[in-house]
Amino acid sequence: MPNTIQILNKAWEGVDPAMVTDEPPKFSFEYFPPKTEKGIENLYNKVYRMSRQNPLFLDLTWGAGGSTSELTMQMSKNFKKMFNCEVNMHLTCTNITESSVKDALVEAKEGDITSICALRGDPPVGQDKWAATDGGFNCALDLVKFIKSEYGDFFSLAVAGYPEGHPNAITEVTDVEALSETEKSRLIKLADGKLMVCTDKSFKTELDYLKAKVDAGANLILTQLFYDVDVFLAFVKACREMGIKCPILPGIMPLATYQGFKRMTGFCRTRIPDEVAEEMEAVKDDDAEFKKYGIELVVRMCKRIWATGTVPALHFYCLNQYDTVFKILTALGIEINKLDSEEERAAIDKVKELVKQTLKEEKEGKEEKKQA
Ligand SMILES: Cc1cc2nc3c(=O)[nH]c(=O)nc-3n(C[C@H](O)[C@H](O)[C@H](O)COP(=O)(O)OP(=O)(O)OC[C@H]3O[C@@H](n4cnc5c(N)ncnc54)[C@H](O)[C@@H]3O)c2cc1C
Repeated sequence: MPNTIQILNKAWEGVDPAMVTDEPPKFSFEYFPPKTEKGIENLYNKVYRMSRQNPLFLDLTWGAGGSTSELTMQMSKNFKKMFNCEVNMHLTCTNITESSVKDALVEAKEGDITSICALRGDPPVGQDKWAATDGGFNCALDLVKFIKSEYGDFFSLAVAGYPEGHPNAITEVTDVEALSETEKSRLIKLADGKLMVCTDKSFKTELDYLKAKVDAGANLILTQLFYDVDVFLAFVKACREMGIKCPILPGIMPLATYQGFKRMTGFCRTRIPDEVAEEMEAVKDDDAEFKKYGIELVVRMCKRIWATGTVPALHFYCLNQYDTVFKILTALGIEINKLDSEEERAAIDKVKELVKQTLKEEKEGKEEKKQA
């Protein structure tokens, strides 16, 4: 049976990109594996609530350097089993050999996971540069090719896309006047005043590489976070012009705190449009006002993107929280299932019980492994 991403893909084939829809957006939710046992328990309970909002899929990252890979696998399988939702599990090439990837894919298949987001991965914590592992893969393209060659169409495969170019392809600008109009539209100003851009030449290389990932078998693109809708729409247009036809889901990251926003956008080298920077300046010292503004900004972005008809759904980087995302969905016209019926309350209690049991089993499994 096709999974929700394959159905989305089929539905997207032949869709007129200029189609404008009055329906509220479809959406998916992304999480990361928490560091503590309490965090894990909380996340299961939150994901239950979120799974009841009918997302296209739940998406779980693979920790930098493979640090949380066991937890990602375990939680992905449990999300599928407990919440009966499509799960898109991330898998990276960092610190992993081909034979461990093979094992991970066997386990994913046995756990009824049919969607993988194939990535190169971030460098492990404490390392600046990414390096391939002996007996492993060099990049996401290698991983896509490998999964395809081993499993054919069994897994639907998502890959990452970068509307502003991958951070490694973004370099310092010394002469702004010499930039082309498209380069100027992607210009990034870092907190220290440095100007950076992915040049047209590098951007073309990035798109060629993205196309290679899609041609090798990826059928969904999830984008890096961004706050300039024009840059995102130009990226989608450029993808379409070069024959990348699969659905592209914009990566939407709700704003939590000003410091967190600065840290994340600095790390990812994200362009902040002047008017957003100005609006933010007025609320940056008041956490509550900043959060309120953050919701308004993201809702504005989502509405604008959705109205273009160029994407079939929105992909939310939830930061393992549901309250802000639910506020955004409500503002987009999506009714939130509050889970306050007796039936739902009973289901929540059952999930809590299952979570406790699962955590106990995981702990026992780890102890057994240690002793063996
Ligand atoms: C949606 C999304 C989800 C993510 N999830 C995770 C996660 O779960 N875990 C994690 O650790 N990180 C995650 N990341 C971060 C990601 O791993 C990093 O951005 C990483 O540096 C690149 O991964 P990639 O899959 O985009 O790499 P690739 O697609 O391999 O590309 C990385 C860069 O190298 C260039 N490149 C690589 N190989 C070639 C080649 N053969 N030919 C030409 N150019 C090449 C590309 O053009 C690009 O600039 C995610 C990023 C996004 C956008």
